[in-house]
Amino acid sequence: NYKISHRAASLSSSLTLAIDSKAKQMKADGLDVVGFGVGEPDFDTPRHIKDAAIKALNEGFTKYTAASGIPELRQAIADKFKRDNGLTYKPSQIIVSCGGKHSCYNVIIATCEEGDEVVIPAPYWLSYPEMVKLAGAKPVIVQTSDKTEFKVTPEQLRAAITPRTRLFILNSPSNPTGSLYSRDEIKALGDICVEKGVLIMSDEIYEKLVYDGAEHVSVASFSKAHYDHTIVVHGFAKAYSMTGWRLGYLAAPEPIAKAIDAIQSHSTSNPTSFAQKGAVEALNGPQDHLKTWLEEYAKRRMFAYQKLNSIPGISCVNAKGAFYLFPNISKLGLNSTDFCAKLLEQEKVAAVPGIAFGTDEYIRISYATSMANLEKGLERIERFAKTLK
Ligand code: PLP
Repeated sequence: NYKISHRAASLSSSLTLAIDSKAKQMKADGLDVVGFGVGEPDFDTPRHIKDAAIKALNEGFTKYTAASGIPELRQAIADKFKRDNGLTYKPSQIIVSCGGKHSCYNVIIATCEEGDEVVIPAPYWLSYPEMVKLAGAKPVIVQTSDKTEFKVTPEQLRAAITPRTRLFILNSPSNPTGSLYSRDEIKALGDICVEKGVLIMSDEIYEKLVYDGAEHVSVASFSKAHYDHTIVVHGFAKAYSMTGWRLGYLAAPEPIAKAIDAIQSHSTSNPTSFAQKGAVEALNGPQDHLKTWLEEYAKRRMFAYQKLNSIPGISCVNAKGAFYLFPNISKLGLNSTDFCAKLLEQEKVAAVPGIAFGTDEYIRISYATSMANLEKGLERIERFAKTLK
């Protein structure tokens, strides 16, 4: 009879991972499974990035580094913020961590504790509420729907804020919905946080994956006050296809960065030394791969969006960013868990139930997979939907 700490015991285990491991097992058993579950690019890490890491490894760059990252990388990140977002950060305000996920965790642990509330719009990336619980704070979920393209309104945010609210989590472009807030929408949410003295954790990891000429704007960029209230979280996983490298970063007001530096120095220490050299090359080297990837994602997105909407009983708003669609399946009479379990069982298509992201009427489809897979999987979803009507 092992005693589990109440914080650890409060966590739900990841439904995404459960579906993924079932799908993998089915594949290993020789079944023809189509996977729409994973949130990672199907492209390889660009060659020049790998070469930089290999070179570092060969040159013996294999020892501990500064806990919050090598100066060269922190400078490259500061340059990136200046270039892409018009934001000025000193390298000391930047912390490199073992993935964007780790950066989010560091932010929450450094700023939240018992008695604090954290406002999280649903559908949310599934780790946010669990991280908040690990910090001993309380997630306050604000429901949105496809009627507002899954965007929280200023009125909803205002109504959710109490004197205990410490943090608001903004994720644009969004996992799982692919929605992207406009400049005005982001500013309106940022204004409320500034007025109420609430910090914003702005997860911008999908910044580079936007379509139809849409623009990504960082909430930190509107004014000094917005900047002072914002911690930007970012990473290398999505735009450089470096999911397995485990590298992310954050930029924060100096006192928060300092606190996170201390946390990291006593928990993980530095992210992998030679991976950091690859990351310097990712930011400072050519960005040509992105154009090719975006063209490919855009084609798949359009195809999947049209196909999903052609299926009776399913409706889907088009995404403006990331590589997910979030179709509404509620008219088909199953909750999202049963829908995905049966879909996997009957048609061997793995998708993630919306309930994993806090809303039960949808499923998440990742189109970070080949066009051939998309065609096959969506045909199967169509056939499956017909059996439910
Ligand atoms: N934030 C969001 C919204 C994500 O979807 C992910 C990955 O799925 C992450 C952060 C973390 O990515 P990583 O830890 O691989 O850098």
